[in-house]
Amino acid sequence: MKKQRIETVCIQGGYTPKNGEPRQIPIYQSTTFKYDTSEDMAKLFDLEASGYFYTRLQNPTNDLVAAKLAQLEGGTAAMLTSSGQAANFFAVFNLANQGDHVISSSTIYGGTFNLFAVTMKKMGIDFTFVDPNISEEDLEKEFRPNTKCVFGETIANPALAVIDIEKFAKIAHKHGVPFIIDNTFATPINCRPIEWGADIVTHSTTKYLDGHGGCVGGAIIDGGKFDWMAHADKFPGLCTPDDSYHGITYATKFGKEGAFITKATAQLMRDFGAIQSPQHAYYLNLGLESLHVRMERHCFNGQKMAEYLASNPKIALVIYPSLKVDKYYDLAQKYLPKGSCGVVSFGLKGGRKACEAFMKELKVINIETHVADAKSCCLHPASATHRQLTDEQLRECGISPELIRLSCGIENIDDLIEDVEQALAKI
Ligand code: PLP
Repeated sequence: MKKQRIETVCIQGGYTPKNGEPRQIPIYQSTTFKYDTSEDMAKLFDLEASGYFYTRLQNPTNDLVAAKLAQLEGGTAAMLTSSGQAANFFAVFNLANQGDHVISSSTIYGGTFNLFAVTMKKMGIDFTFVDPNISEEDLEKEFRPNTKCVFGETIANPALAVIDIEKFAKIAHKHGVPFIIDNTFATPINCRPIEWGADIVTHSTTKYLDGHGGCVGGAIIDGGKFDWMAHADKFPGLCTPDDSYHGITYATKFGKEGAFITKATAQLMRDFGAIQSPQHAYYLNLGLESLHVRMERHCFNGQKMAEYLASNPKIALVIYPSLKVDKYYDLAQKYLPKGSCGVVSFGLKGGRKACEAFMKELKVINIETHVADAKSCCLHPASATHRQLTDEQLRECGISPELIRLSCGIENIDDLIEDVEQALAKI
């Protein structure tokens, strides 16, 4: 069959009902699955046959939605996790263990930064954080013999830095490791990092993919191109027999296309159990069905809002990658030609106090920690998520004290701009 366009995949991907089967994906609300013989079950445990035995590892509803995500991102295999945090943890921990090293962009979501710099560091994994604008030569200098992967975000939350995917993928590959990219803010509608050379894509599906602020969730998609066996010395977990799983060597049994996700399911899901519930997977699929329509409106609203803010004399700075004057405009044009996202970061000339006063006056746009869903919302990191930091410490994290992160939803843009306008008039 002819390759379908992405808008069609949003609707039809992952599940093709047979004659008389339900048109919408069924929710397999069952922890376990019945078999006629112990031999049948043994084959599943040995990964000799495909099928389901316990929802802590895998569930058919999840797999239908994961298959759609694999299609959307142009990957070969995918899995759903209970959150974006779990997705990023699994993606990195599937490759790096105690004594290993990982290179990550420094402009990443604060929760991921803490996961890497604090929690995974306690597990004995060392992280080097690099400026996403680092030169190829300087990036090369950060590699060590024990480096296992490179990590970045397509559009960083909340710095809105656009990463040069080709540059990071090229240098990672030169050093025999994969490039993992969190594509949460761009979504596969605006950017498909695997096509630019990235190897593994992660998502907080909590954001645009679900799109309605209803379900926390995550996903990992494997591009299926990284040749694990060509770097077998670096990845013993994939390239030597797994004693905890009946002596299976994932890279030989499942190949480039399936080894990464099979190992993450068989080992990490089995031991950590951070699986998405089938009910949440069902809701996520509903969100995916309208993703392409919603992203168009998010980007339209984000662009209009950024342009309005940039022309307002009370505004000190506007950060939006699709704005011509933005530092990341050229990279956004290359990797995100359809638009970047609905999130705009900006600051008021009156500083921190003016920001707090401004946000109090908003009526349509709500103050929330959340971002990237249908309802517009905003956050002042300096008085919320980064409250404990001094103004100087905030600047070191790339967050100015007057920065407001405004997530444009899919309401009418005139209502959003009028809301901002009336709030600005009061300060
Ligand atoms: N990655 C990015 C880019 C995020 O913005 C977030 C959360 O805001 C996460 C990962 C973590 O996702 P979750 O909140 O679903 O665990």
